[in-house]
Parts: sequence; structure tokens; C-alpha cells
Amino acid sequence: MNKRQFIKSGLGIAGLSLINPTQSIEALATVPAFELPKLPYSYSDLEPMIDARTMEIHYSKHHAGYVEKLNAELAKQSFKYTGLEDLLEKYAHENKTIRNNGGGHYNHSLMWKTLVKPGSAKTNMPADLQIEIITEFESIESFMVNLKITALERFGSGWAWLCKGKDGKLFITSTPNQDNPLMNIQGLVQGKPLLGIDVWEHAYYLKYQNRRAEYIDAFWNLINWEEVEKLRKSA
Ligand code: MN
Repeated sequence: MNKRQFIKSGLGIAGLSLINPTQSIEALATVPAFELPKLPYSYSDLEPMIDARTMEIHYSKHHAGYVEKLNAELAKQSFKYTGLEDLLEKYAHENKTIRNNGGGHYNHSLMWKTLVKPGSAKTNMPADLQIEIITEFESIESFMVNLKITALERFGSGWAWLCKGKDGKLFITSTPNQDNPLMNIQGLVQGKPLLGIDVWEHAYYLKYQNRRAEYIDAFWNLINWEEVEKLRKSA
């Protein structure tokens, strides 16, 4: 088989097809281990909405644990993927460790990135995003109510999401555990997550105990809408 046939056979990966196909296979096999991303703020920066102790445990214990277990699984067998999103799309539905820990790594990395110190100018929602949200949910208020109810109705641990669908439209959904809408899991609505609210008790219990609604109300003050809009535009 010549190079063109090789790529056409489906072994060539989109975006890598200009590279010598033998090299691209090697590149896939040696994707480096995942790393805990650096937080773009300090543990206390999200006070008083999220306390420093919760941030410290959430990031340095929970999130770090997902990364560690994910890397241990990746070291065991050869998965072929171009990055974390690709890994989840390809393997989450058939590998529980990747589903739980790859999902955990993805979900938390996204959340840290889309939060910011309260009072920051980045908490103002860009006009283009406001228009999109109003188009889909009628008003900013009804969007907020919808997302809050979705987060409250998640029984047990999981996430509430604002996503962009394949049709380009925004939608709200919820997933259990560390699942997310990138995964090919039956019953999950698929899309690209733009914003996730972690409703595991580990995200709020120290400060809010059983009062999840209060935690969600506080969460609005921390959303980096500038970053959410960047994700929407690039999705
Ligand atoms: Mn969490």
C-alpha cells in the first residue's frame, strides 16, 4: 500500500495526514503523561464563595488523584489518541478508569479555567455570548434558573453543564459522576462543554454542607465568562 492508500485506509488521523504516516503512529504511541494544570489563581482567591481549604483539597487531592490514576492506566496498555478530548471520545465508553479519571481530569481542568477571582472584569458576560444565551434560553435569568435547577436535580455526584452542540446551539445538561458530554455513552447528550458546575459534595461540603443551592448561587460570581466565550467561539 502506498502512502496515499495508507492515509485513506483510516489510519491517518485528521490534522496529521501531512506527516509521514509511520511517524504519526509513533507520535500517537508516545503521547506524554497528563499533568495537573497550574491553577490560574491561589487557593484563597475564590473566597468567600469557595473557601481556600476546599480549593486546596479539591485541587491537590481530588484532581491530582484523577491525573495519577489516569496516567497509571495509560501506562498499562497502548491507547491511540491525540489529546485528552480524543481519549475520552474514543475510550471512555469502554474503559471505566479512563471514563472516571480521564473525565475527572478533563472536568476539573475546564472548571478551574472558567473560574476567576470575584469582582474581576472577566466575570462580565461578553455581548456575543449574551445574544447566544438569550436566543436559546429567552433570557439570562431563565438560563441561570435552568442551569441551577439542572444542578440541583442531579442526584448524588455529578456535573451540570453549558455546552455547544454539533448544530452550534447552546444547551444545558447534566451528567453523573465524572462523565461529560464528550463521551460516547448511551443516554448522554453529546456536545462540547463550555462551563461545568461540579456538584460533588467535595466541591462545597466544608462551607455549605448540604446547601447545594447556596453553593450554586455563589458560583455565579466566579464564572470567567470571557473564557467561556473563547471556548464557545473555538468549539
Ligand atoms: Mn470535583
